[in-house]
Amino acid sequence: MLSTVIPPLVLTLFNFTVTFEWIDYINTTETNNTNIMKTAIVKAFGTEAPDADLKQMDITRREVLEKDVEIDILFCGVCHSDLHTARNEWHGTVYPNVPGHEIVGRISKVGDKVTQFKVGDLAAVGCMVDSCRECEQCRKGSEQYCEKGNIQTYNGHDRHLNKQTFGGYSERIVVDEDFVLRVPENLDLAATAPLLCAGVTTWSPLKHWNVGEGHKVGIVGIGGLGHMGVKLAKARGAHVVVITTSPSKVEDAKRLGADEVILSTDKEQMKAHTNTLNFILDCVSADHDLNAYMRLLKVDGTLALVGAPEHPLPVAAFSLIPGRKSLAGSTIGSIKETQEMLDFCGQHNIVSDIELIKIQDINQAYERLLKGDVKYRFVIDMKSLKG
Ligand SMILES: [Zn+2]
Ligand SMILES: [Zn+2]
Repeated sequence: MLSTVIPPLVLTLFNFTVTFEWIDYINTTETNNTNIMKTAIVKAFGTEAPDADLKQMDITRREVLEKDVEIDILFCGVCHSDLHTARNEWHGTVYPNVPGHEIVGRISKVGDKVTQFKVGDLAAVGCMVDSCRECEQCRKGSEQYCEKGNIQTYNGHDRHLNKQTFGGYSERIVVDEDFVLRVPENLDLAATAPLLCAGVTTWSPLKHWNVGEGHKVGIVGIGGLGHMGVKLAKARGAHVVVITTSPSKVEDAKRLGADEVILSTDKEQMKAHTNTLNFILDCVSADHDLNAYMRLLKVDGTLALVGAPEHPLPVAAFSLIPGRKSLAGSTIGSIKETQEMLDFCGQHNIVSDIELIKIQDINQAYERLLKGDVKYRFVIDMKSLKG
């Protein structure tokens, strides 16, 4: 009797275990399966290989979940990171790749539990679309430093569709409302797009190091980042000193708001500004001599890197020790900081200097970007993708 009872029991237990794991697997698959989750085909511009041009393609986006908003993209800025990622220069690009993380548009759909936005609102998305929400950094509102890594707007891992995220070179995007920004109505929309990366990347360190009235701040390099750094530091009340290698940028730096301009190639000018700056925002992504810039800092001054040169930059200990100086870095900004920056730009009427392009001109724009031939940000008019 016993022998006939035991085998079914074991079998049942065994079956239960197997079934349990199987159900678990099915559930995971359900949330990650594009066939089960409602999705839509969206027109985009992207690339299929590091050495291929960007071209029109179709991508899959999820339909709005209860906390999602869908944004019809009006403008998308062109950041140097787009080019680095499209060409796999930082490695780890998953293809196809659709870049773009300076996104401005209008909300076309909202999920049932969305509370902060409604259809028709202007909205923006920057460099990240999600994070773990549980780690120390996420809990204190520094999602950009999520200990598990924030989910990047493109080439990140979309946990809903279980594939790579696709950026703003597309008709529309679906994002959890917690990672969506409000856009001041008074700003030029196309020129607002670059605030979502270049703006907040320079704002966050200026805010973190309390740069403002009574401070002398150096901005090294006038490009997409640097030109926003000048505008924002000036509007925060600081005395702004631009440090550039290009004599051709002196007048433009002043137009952007610089109080003084130093040509870094002129030793006398550099010497005259020794020990004068409280803070330096270094926006240069080419190799350069940090020691020369550290000499410009006062005691307790900080140089923060936001540009990312390819090779390590040597720093002499005696560039730091005698003046108790700090060398630091900073990446993008939190959602809260991004909103603060956008609101601040609305109040002070600050936008980026841009050149508006059609999506069909993106490959030529990348070539010009490589030569620094843009003042100071390309922005794609996304109407061109619809047309
Ligand atoms: Zn960027
Ligand atoms: Zn986290």
